Amino acid sequence: MALAVAAERVAAEFEYSKEDVNRGVQAFIQQMDEGLGKKGATMSQIPTYVTAVPNGTEKGLYMAVDLGGTNFRVCSIQLHGNSTFSLTQSKVAIPKDLMVAKTSHELFSFLAKQIELFLKVHHEEHYQSHVERRASYVGFGTMRDENIFSLGFTFSFPVQQYGINKGTLIRWTKGFDIADTIGKDVCALLQKEIDALGLPVRVAALVNDTVGTLMARSYTSPGKQGTLLGGIFGTGTNGAYVEKLDKITKLKNQSADAGEIDDSTGEMIVNTEWGSFDNHMSVLPDTSYDRGLDAGSVNPGIQMFEKRVSGMFLGEILRRALIDLMNDPSVPLFSDDDSSRNDISSTTTVASDSPLYKQWGLDTSFLSITSGDSSYGLKATRQALNSDYGVSAASAEDAEAARLIAGAIGKRAARLSAVAIAAVVITTKSLESSAPDGVVDIGVDGSLVEFYPNFEEYIREALRDVPQIGPHGEKRIRIGIAKDGSGVGAALIALVADKKMKGTHETTRSTSFGGFMASFFGGLNRTIRYRA
Ligand code: ADP
Ligand code: MG
Repeated sequence: MALAVAAERVAAEFEYSKEDVNRGVQAFIQQMDEGLGKKGATMSQIPTYVTAVPNGTEKGLYMAVDLGGTNFRVCSIQLHGNSTFSLTQSKVAIPKDLMVAKTSHELFSFLAKQIELFLKVHHEEHYQSHVERRASYVGFGTMRDENIFSLGFTFSFPVQQYGINKGTLIRWTKGFDIADTIGKDVCALLQKEIDALGLPVRVAALVNDTVGTLMARSYTSPGKQGTLLGGIFGTGTNGAYVEKLDKITKLKNQSADAGEIDDSTGEMIVNTEWGSFDNHMSVLPDTSYDRGLDAGSVNPGIQMFEKRVSGMFLGEILRRALIDLMNDPSVPLFSDDDSSRNDISSTTTVASDSPLYKQWGLDTSFLSITSGDSSYGLKATRQALNSDYGVSAASAEDAEAARLIAGAIGKRAARLSAVAIAAVVITTKSLESSAPDGVVDIGVDGSLVEFYPNFEEYIREALRDVPQIGPHGEKRIRIGIAKDGSGVGAALIALVADKKMKGTHETTRSTSFGGFMASFFGGLNRTIRYRA
């Protein structure tokens, strides 16, 4: 079979039609509702007890760390109070063996070590206070407050949060698998390792990256209206949005351990954990490649939406599709013969130790490279195949086949992302409740949405396919990258936690800032109830 025909046939398996999008949106809304009503639904819909978003006037110097899925980021953030900030950051890839370590200690001590290195390089004065502290064997109590950094811990895994800096891990996702951590308070685990190094750092807040993105976008976004949704399209995918309190009906029959809720805004941010949308596969698209990926993953049957949408998985879907074609003797993919000759004795040009033969061996960044390749004869694609994947003599036809399939996988991911966005916009009635031409603001973050060519345009195309949104509604949806969102968002929440701990809420003047803080006093502290 001609390579182009075979590739087109595979690409067609990833088509996700207008009807599919609409069926997806209906199911998404239904599963969101289910999650708001009860614990243990497919979509967790975790109440965050954050009942307002910031407005850009917040100020101060904070630290933040972000355990994403691929990288660990450490940063310090100066919030200037005028919607702008300065950020110093360091980033390190998380060693693969730590993701599946035997004990939490192995992972968390590595994280604390990175914090120490960061302080040493970027905050000499704070590092110095650590040295002094170590020398005299004293604790926080004897240190001057200003020497202790408040840190927001962005931890992007499903957590049952029961305090502003307390939360237990429900399950690992994105390839992590450390049994020892399940059910433990991840802030306490980090604080313990920070203390073991004697660092002047207090883990002040636990933040999901989606909430951080929503906060950061709301702090920086132009205009007065708050942001509706923070969405992550990186290693994994997830979203947090502003929901009406009275729709979160499971809060009404909550147990005594839940925080008191401040209802002054009538709203609360909900962390959807939409990566597990439709785990039972009622509407999600399914190909043999998706099934193979799932069966070979550490969590089969779980995070089924995420496995079709996010960076950790798209490369693997493509790898499986390419391997299938390579194994088909009638299809001359990566073969050293003239592709027109269909010679079954042809040999492959793929090195035997090529990452293409290894599970997770193909990185999603390759999809971006090839989808964005407009060079003559797809030179960039062939170069990447050669240098990164041991394919020594890929032809232009080979590259075109890879590009076609990669494009189909990327487009399906974007259209599925639109399902989530559309569902949130529709179920919150955001287009109806803002002014007729008003903007509905959405913050996004993650390498996929940032780097995959036309990801946003594909999302928009699918949004127009949904009648409740349509071309007019689509134009009113503003999507902005919340650059460094997790850091800024975590800093904003650390700020609130700090004020709460020091009891300095009398400094609040602006109503919405006060409201933002009040939400924490009311929501996460059981004893103090404060209104702006
Ligand atoms: P995290 O999820 O750890 O916060 P990122 O948002 O950077 O980190 O996402 C990392 C994921 O994005 C990885 O799965 C990686 O394969 C993928 N990725 C990295 N670069 C690109 C790119 N240029 N295009 C598409 N995906 C990418
Ligand atoms: Mg991230």
